[in-house]
Amino acid sequence: MTRVRARIEGTVQGVGFRPYVYRLAGELGVAGHVLNDSRGVVVEVEAADETVERFLARLPVEAPPLANVERVTAEPVEELGESGFSIRDSPAGGEPRAAVTPDSATCPDCLAELLDPADRRFRYPFTNCTNCGPRFTIVRGVPYDRPNTTMAAFTMCPACRAEYDDPSDRRFHAQPNACPDCGPRVRLVYAGGGPVLDARAADPVEAAARALLDGAIVAIKGIGGFHLACVARDEDTVAELRARKHREDKPFAVMAADAASARDLVLMNAAEEELLLTRARPIVLAPRRPDAPVAPSVAPGAPRLGVMLPYSPLHHLLLRDAGEPLVMTSGNVSDEPIAYDDDDACSRLAEIADLFLLHDRPIETRTDDSVVRLEDGRPLLLRRSRGYVPDSIPLPLDCGRQLLACGAELKNTFAVAKGGRAWVGHHVGDLKNYETLSSFVTGIGHFQRLFAVRPEVVAHDLHPDYLSTKHALELDGVRLVGVQHHHAHLAACLAEHAEAGPAVGAIFDGAGYGEDGTVWGGELLVGGLAEFEREGLLFPVRMPGGDAAVRQPWRMACAWLTAALGDGPPLPRGLRGQVGPDAWRQVAELASSGVASPLTTSVGRLFDAVAALCGIRAEVNYEGQAAVELEAAVDGGERAAYPLPVAGDDGGPLVLDARVTVRAIVRDVERGAAVPTVSGRFHNALAAATATACRTAAERSGAGTVALSGGVFQNHVLLARTSSLLREGGLRVLVPERLPPNDGGIAYGQLAVAAARVAREEGHDVRA
Ligand SMILES: [Zn+2]
Ligand SMILES: [Zn+2]
Ligand SMILES: [Zn+2]
Repeated sequence: MTRVRARIEGTVQGVGFRPYVYRLAGELGVAGHVLNDSRGVVVEVEAADETVERFLARLPVEAPPLANVERVTAEPVEELGESGFSIRDSPAGGEPRAAVTPDSATCPDCLAELLDPADRRFRYPFTNCTNCGPRFTIVRGVPYDRPNTTMAAFTMCPACRAEYDDPSDRRFHAQPNACPDCGPRVRLVYAGGGPVLDARAADPVEAAARALLDGAIVAIKGIGGFHLACVARDEDTVAELRARKHREDKPFAVMAADAASARDLVLMNAAEEELLLTRARPIVLAPRRPDAPVAPSVAPGAPRLGVMLPYSPLHHLLLRDAGEPLVMTSGNVSDEPIAYDDDDACSRLAEIADLFLLHDRPIETRTDDSVVRLEDGRPLLLRRSRGYVPDSIPLPLDCGRQLLACGAELKNTFAVAKGGRAWVGHHVGDLKNYETLSSFVTGIGHFQRLFAVRPEVVAHDLHPDYLSTKHALELDGVRLVGVQHHHAHLAACLAEHAEAGPAVGAIFDGAGYGEDGTVWGGELLVGGLAEFEREGLLFPVRMPGGDAAVRQPWRMACAWLTAALGDGPPLPRGLRGQVGPDAWRQVAELASSGVASPLTTSVGRLFDAVAALCGIRAEVNYEGQAAVELEAAVDGGERAAYPLPVAGDDGGPLVLDARVTVRAIVRDVERGAAVPTVSGRFHNALAAATATACRTAAERSGAGTVALSGGVFQNHVLLARTSSLLREGGLRVLVPERLPPNDGGIAYGQLAVAAARVAREEGHDVRA
């Protein structure tokens, strides 16, 4: 006989781990007990040597679906001659840790019950169990128990209570457990609030589906917020939704009932289908099928379509009742944050939705759908939110201090960390108004409580005007660490791959505050987590009129022509008819004089300029639109490249001189070259020049690794071509996978930099 105490760490609380251990112990006939403590799960087992060994071998392997076992440590303890196995109460005291998991899509068992007319949960839209259902979005506090969730107001009926208390039941300690007798209910109301009584429909979900098929726009309360839904194939309805939402071109996501119906919409390989089916149920971007039954207005100008599958029982019922794919776009007006509170939704969306499908389970934290794409066989997260948050992400080092990072301004996320683990918050959005700012501040407080983090060190961007920076600077009694924007991008990419550098980073994005006060965005950095050197840059040009140049790419075309051809360039062929001669002259003057026109090295703005020169668009309706459309236009077979010399042979900074490229583009466009050809040659030029510059920087510094990040690297063509050139040159390439390459990854990068600097200064550098 032998007795062993095993400690299991990772995501092991609130996921049915103790009942799983209980069942495994019963099956193998071992004695002992299991309990939760502040660090995870502790098991003591007593049995014959080989039985204990078998128990420990199976323990991590057969864990329940939502569990993530990071570490099992076992030590022998004194035998007690115990018989039987029990689940014990948690010891009091100790701080709660990592007990909150992401929201998880309906599991196959619950789906079967939902669709079984004989089951007591037949068509019940809030069916869930220990292996699925809402988590993060309903949590109000810790420990993760029903009174600390938005289910607190619902008292379980005897049948639900019995399931909840039975360790052998799939609903043992499932905090949101509910049924039609005791749980939340749906109702369908008109925009004014009056109930919809559809005599033909058995229930509100079915009535909503009928209304959708009749051409209605329905606001639907989901897991992390409201969606606006309509049938995806009907052009009139989709165009009407666009008009009411004031969203001109930004693509809408589509929800399909299952993988088979998703295959009618997009071309997917096995890995993409797998991604679509993960419990996180993200929006997956994949090439749209030419014959996809979706209206042109769903995703105008975009070759890829965002598709997702139902992730709540309500979605499953709705999609089955409707019998066809639905547009499911975030419930907001234009760029506002998504609505998640009933009253707020009913007032803000009153002019958009005809009907509201509501329910009485409150959403505690607004959480948008996550967006992901497959890149070179690996997931590339473009927005990390519902289904992924609040899973922790390790940091390469533990500086011994508790940290907060405030992130950037656009696509903001915040993050907290301690003990070498980071918790990156949900997508907050663009910190430009009161509502996003308050959700930023509330979110930080919520995370600090959930993960018991009391920040001693606060990392922030260098931009003095970012609301996230201002928030950091107002905090008392903390040590502040300012982190350069592009260094944070580099550090985030290194840290998620458990690396500390030194490495070369090609960081291309729209804008970030540079150490010299100019707008950076085409940076070649060499460094690690603590420090960096700016080894190279895109040739700097003016941004005529500042932010106006972001909305009007033709201004960037004018600035690049001024740099490439000299003051007062003529209006190019691609822009004739789109820009008036007076406006062009005025902007050309700004570009020459530099008045109200900061210098920028932004590659995002170079893309804007090239798109404008090609005549793709002179103005944009959302950030990055011109670049997206320029990429969409690429002729994949084009092998030629424009010249894009890299200056710096003398050992000075490596400057990607795109003036030469711009001159070649103008000549090609004047000659009548097709847009796909121009776009292809431009992408090839930038990939080749970037690879050349990275190779030189690697040779100079001795680094063998290149990190590619920043929002511009969401561009598949640029990323794939640059990566393959670098690999051909014998360099290792790292790209972001668990966090977005865009500014959604900045907070995590700030944490990594701050941790490295504090560790170095305080001499505490524990490898995590
Ligand atoms: Zn389930
Ligand atoms: Zn019940
Ligand atoms: Zn950035």
